[in-house]
Amino acid sequence: MHWSPAILYALVAAIANIIGGLFISAKPMLNPKVLKYLIASGAGFMLAAVFLNIIPASLKITNNNSEALMLVLAGYLLIQFCEHTIVAHFHFGEETHSHLLSRSSAFTAAGGLAIHTFFDGISIAAGFAVDVKLGLLIFIAMIIHKLPEGFTVASIMLAAGQSRKTAFLASVFIGFVTLIGTLSILFFKQAAHFALPLSAGVTLYVAASDLIPEVNNGSERTVIPLVVFGGVILYYITEALLDFLIIS
Ligand SMILES: [Zn+2]
Ligand SMILES: [Zn+2]
Repeated sequence: MHWSPAILYALVAAIANIIGGLFISAKPMLNPKVLKYLIASGAGFMLAAVFLNIIPASLKITNNNSEALMLVLAGYLLIQFCEHTIVAHFHFGEETHSHLLSRSSAFTAAGGLAIHTFFDGISIAAGFAVDVKLGLLIFIAMIIHKLPEGFTVASIMLAAGQSRKTAFLASVFIGFVTLIGTLSILFFKQAAHFALPLSAGVTLYVAASDLIPEVNNGSERTVIPLVVFGGVILYYITEALLDFLIIS
């Protein structure tokens, strides 16, 4: 295994999880508005990345369109199963329904989220296995939602009556699992093939079924739902910038 930029980017993504966790486990000091903006723009960016880059790249590398699309569906369903079927109560953002959360349901929620962050790491490595541009686009899609992700897992722990230290360690754990995901692809290069379409499905799930409901659940009219479109615009700008930087 030779050194890969994917490890460095996965490390940054893992640190973003931990910073997100710190925001809530150290002292509640992150403006909830900021969190909402990150969730909304992350959703738009991820949706654009999935449809405009990750799925097309998956079709190209697998040479079998029906198999690739089946893997996309499998990735989507995998997160439906891990985050929402075996887990009783999970949603992105701050967990404030304390009465709903038992100790065991908080730990299964963290476990379900860890399976998703494992795929965050896999996506980064599988992207870099195709080319630098895809790797960077996936990395940026990941990094935007990594802060809210760390925040989410730490707040679940606090809502279940766990200590601030446990809440912080939960964000360290999901960050660490991201790195493991990246390393697993670097060790089993052949798997990048299957991993890219699978992680397209996972990313689609996180964007459309985890983040978007959180964007739309406000009771009052705000600009937050519009920020999703901002995320898509951000994607186009980033892609153009990467084209410019990589070609020149
Ligand atoms: Zn809740
Ligand atoms: Zn994630």
